[in-house]
Amino acid sequence: MKPMIFESHAHYDSSKFAEDREELLTSMQDNGIGTIINVGATWKSVTTVAELANAYPFIYAALGLHPDEVGDLNEERFDFLRKQCQQEKVVAIGEIGLDYYWDNESHDVQKEWFIRQLNLARELDLPVIIHSRDAAEDTLQIMKEHAQGLRGVIHCFSYSKELAEEYVKMGFYIGIGGVVTFKNGKKLKEIATAIPLEKILLETDCPYLAPEPHRGKRNSSLYIPHIAQEIADLRGIPYEEVVSQTEQNGKELFGI
Ligand SMILES: [Zn+2]
Repeated sequence: MKPMIFESHAHYDSSKFAEDREELLTSMQDNGIGTIINVGATWKSVTTVAELANAYPFIYAALGLHPDEVGDLNEERFDFLRKQCQQEKVVAIGEIGLDYYWDNESHDVQKEWFIRQLNLARELDLPVIIHSRDAAEDTLQIMKEHAQGLRGVIHCFSYSKELAEEYVKMGFYIGIGGVVTFKNGKKLKEIATAIPLEKILLETDCPYLAPEPHRGKRNSSLYIPHIAQEIADLRGIPYEEVVSQTEQNGKELFGI
């Protein structure tokens, strides 16, 4: 079978896709996008992302509340999240983590729900999709204390090469997206060559973070080839090798 692109992080439930969602999603497989993980972030997405995954055979769901959104959680809603995660197409808990850049919620509230959602992943035996921005130290500490034995990906990795290597050592994958194509994406370019290809997942985080030459526009999984090509060029290996190895990585991590 011809290798197909495995898109490990998209937000097609976003209103930015309201006008052409169906048209766009039905064009994916003809354009070489084989699998999409649609990742939840808001309370609303706990319902909408599961629905989206049920509507398209090649779309799978990750459910969880982003650190900016955890203020919407309470015990009753957490029980509903747990129930939603037991559906067949739900393959991960995410995105969860810490975001001290936007600082929408207090650090204590962010940490508490991050840990609760890590525990949920353990309880349901699901991988985790980690979001961490401007919170390198606290994220690492919580991962060391509460994510032992869990599997998952650090999505849209924005920290140092040393930290990437540490997460790889802990068994986690590193999600690499559009930033690797940016002129000022030097740090990520270095990471994309330093860590084993067996530990890299391709992602867009669409509608955000479109790669060059589409920077600033609405992003979609159709732009992933620019990311794969950049990684191939940086490592000096064929494009097809990047696509096929990262597809294998994604299938392995999410059990697809
Ligand atoms: Zn995201």
